[in-house]
Amino acid sequence: MLELIQKAEKHSNNKAVIDRGSAFSYGELLDQSYRIGSYLLGKKKDLNQTRVAFMVKPSLDYLAIQWGIWRAGGIAVPLCVTYPFPSLQYVIEDTQAGILVVAPEFEEMLSPYQESPNIKFIAIQDLYTDAIRDLPDVSKDRGAMILYTSGTTSLPKGVLTTHANIEAQISTLVDAWEWNSSDYTLSLLPLHHVHGIINVNSCALWSGATVQFLPQFDAKAVFEIFLEGRVNVFMAVPTIYFKLIAYYDTLSEEEQIAITERLKTFRLMVSGSAALPISVMERWHQISGHYLLERYGMTEIGMAISNPYHGKRRAGQIGQPLKGVEVRLCDEQDTEIPLDQPGEIQVKGPGVFKAYWGKAEATTKAFTKDGWFKTGDIAVMEDGYFKILGRDSIDIIKSGGYKISALEIEEVLRTHSSIKDCGVVGIPDEEWGEKVVAALVTEEAIDIEALNHWIRGKMPAYKTPRKYLFVDDLPRNTMGKVTKNELKKLF
Ligand code: ATP
Ligand code: MG
Repeated sequence: MLELIQKAEKHSNNKAVIDRGSAFSYGELLDQSYRIGSYLLGKKKDLNQTRVAFMVKPSLDYLAIQWGIWRAGGIAVPLCVTYPFPSLQYVIEDTQAGILVVAPEFEEMLSPYQESPNIKFIAIQDLYTDAIRDLPDVSKDRGAMILYTSGTTSLPKGVLTTHANIEAQISTLVDAWEWNSSDYTLSLLPLHHVHGIINVNSCALWSGATVQFLPQFDAKAVFEIFLEGRVNVFMAVPTIYFKLIAYYDTLSEEEQIAITERLKTFRLMVSGSAALPISVMERWHQISGHYLLERYGMTEIGMAISNPYHGKRRAGQIGQPLKGVEVRLCDEQDTEIPLDQPGEIQVKGPGVFKAYWGKAEATTKAFTKDGWFKTGDIAVMEDGYFKILGRDSIDIIKSGGYKISALEIEEVLRTHSSIKDCGVVGIPDEEWGEKVVAALVTEEAIDIEALNHWIRGKMPAYKTPRKYLFVDDLPRNTMGKVTKNELKKLF
């Protein structure tokens, strides 16, 4: 029996979900997932790893469908609800989905699949009507989910995880961050990535806690929900904290005091998916009294490294390996190197995925001969805490024999009083191999000469940007990550 379901049965009277003002118990969630599983099975005994893609906004329905697919032995493929048709088509066809479950608001968009000979198209209102049947016993080493990577570096890759992988990813975090049944979290991240699915929803539901949905981020709505007094655990990406801070700064002093008082009572606030700017961490601490707990993870491995729940949380650092996750740093030959030298993070553990879906070659290339997963992220240990220097392919700029971390330069630029946000990349250069360039979002016009002078006082000359571009916004994906290949094209 799948552990998430087994645990939910023990909490059947607890409140599991708050969706558009209505509360639903674990018993109700289980009942709905059971009916959906039965419907999906139709006359078969087992979905037998059929890929079931579903396009449903974050809601009780979303969870019931995801659990229903799992209970019927299928592989869940959650679709991003804000993608345009071609991106959805890529996922549906890449996974060779056999079933497509669609909420009413997306039926028209996905209508090309209504008559498809290979795909059974199901409107969600039809899912609930079938009679209940026996559900198969699903073994833990079977495929559970295919999630696509964020597509920050290239086309998104489908990541296949098993139930055992997912359970390991969840239980590690539940232990590390002390999730328990009195927790109450606000779920506002997209539910086609690990962050929202595993770290927020699944950890809460594993623990008998309550998940309140806010299908679309809106800073005002978030603070209103906080002020209602129930949320005590909150997880988001850096851009969301950035937006909450910007909105907070527009409020009256009275409103700010009320929010600050409320935030101080939270148990835990987490940031991840992209580097948390030190300025955001510091400002959020002033507002909320909390040092955000920054952690590091990937679609392929779940969470791997985390700042401590109890100990000191350091700005600009990601902490130590989570329990059950083995981490090492390696050089380009996959040889382990001392932790105080920059190297690639390589990971082993029960949470590590099975394969890139339909990409045997990419899967083989992603692992070392002795079975470590190659993350492609470069890090170094400083004072016992890991620090991310960036992605080998795009954030580590190779210029004139030096390896320069784009993230470190961005941190420095952000300390400039007129710079609101920035993205640093390397672009090809005949003389240097690559040269450092920066896109800036600024409050007001900045004089380039003065900026050059300022930055030379902060870092060695070889690291300083050779060119600046002023932009209204940085290009970002749905997780708020700067898509640096897009950024490079601007230069
Ligand atoms: P793709 O693999 O398609 O290029 P992606 O790597 O962004 O996209 P995800 O699996 O969603 O897809 O993201 C994992 C990556 O996010 C990590 O490899 C790392 O580069 C980055 N990341 C996650 N957490 C942090 C963090 N705390 N600090 C810096 N980077 C982080
Ligand atoms: Mg990746």
